[in-house]
Amino acid sequence: MSIFSTETLKNMDAYVPGEQPQDKSYIKLNTNEFPFPPSEKVKAVVNSEKAEDLRLYSDPTCRILKEAITEVYDFKTENVFCGNGSDEVLALSFLAFCKKEDTVVFPDISYGFYPVFASFFGLKYNEIPLKEDFSIDTGDYLSDCGTVYIANPNAPTGLTLSEQEIEKILIANPNHVVVIDEAYCDFSDCSSMGLIGKYKNLLIVRTFSKSYALAGARIGFALGDRELIADLEKAKFSFNPYNLNRLSIEIGAAAIKDREYFEKTVSLIKENRKKLTDDLRQLGFTVLNSGANFVFAKKDGVDGEQLYLKLKENGILVRHFSKERIKDYLRITVGTKEQNAALIDTLGRNLK
Ligand code: PMP
Repeated sequence: MSIFSTETLKNMDAYVPGEQPQDKSYIKLNTNEFPFPPSEKVKAVVNSEKAEDLRLYSDPTCRILKEAITEVYDFKTENVFCGNGSDEVLALSFLAFCKKEDTVVFPDISYGFYPVFASFFGLKYNEIPLKEDFSIDTGDYLSDCGTVYIANPNAPTGLTLSEQEIEKILIANPNHVVVIDEAYCDFSDCSSMGLIGKYKNLLIVRTFSKSYALAGARIGFALGDRELIADLEKAKFSFNPYNLNRLSIEIGAAAIKDREYFEKTVSLIKENRKKLTDDLRQLGFTVLNSGANFVFAKKDGVDGEQLYLKLKENGILVRHFSKERIKDYLRITVGTKEQNAALIDTLGRNLK
């Protein structure tokens, strides 16, 4: 730390992203990327003469991307906000909606960025323990004491919460925004989008990083009441108006319009998830029922960190978290059939 660093920076732990090794090629099942390439329509955008246009600033309103999103989901563009990855959308939501006098609430086992954002913006937060089986007890979120963040499906557990349960939380928190982070929602049927017209305090955050195979393009968006979206726009225009670059705006629009490719590849992931879950259970693993493009698994008597290291030694990267409650679990991204088979084979050989 330099002598110039602020108290905020000194006192916070930054987010630690999953490994992105540059040294050798691994079977990479550690950061929930999509194992298939993006749509051909995306490649057409990247291959075109677009490089010349990069001398010009991008459209700060992200118009064509918003229009493409509203073609797929039946909203108006005033209900859509676009960000540089959903991490940026989440960060701006902390800035826009979390008040200093309140307490931000989220589960103790969830996306690791929530406590980091809270610290970054100098906010009090309460990490509410998940139940023993890692499910969320909706009753814990009914006190209307601050902005609520819930990932649905949750990460890293993969468990989903029903629309009825989310509705209870919305009703009980009329004075606060309830942010539902649907980063993995395309891999299940758990979206709360149907509630947007009904509840002004609902903000849904989505990403192109997972189901559209565009983690490297950094495209996220939020859906919600026009007043919430206007707040996010104000925050963005006070921080980074050209937050999406020219290529990403076009790439995102092309990707979301290719419904056929999206549906085909997402359903392949669901098939592969089922087989991976079955195969892991066959090997004696406990595997939570996942609604995401990853599974969360542990084997009794096997140390999670040792297993992670053993897999790494064998060229397979998965994610291990050192938090006490989940330290024996591994979060494994659902890969191609071949990648999953290689993982199962390696586990089979190393667990004997
Ligand atoms: N929410 C959750 C629950 C995630 O797991 C991730 C991925 N790390 C994100 C948001 C952020 O994704 P991105 O910034 O790539 O859109």
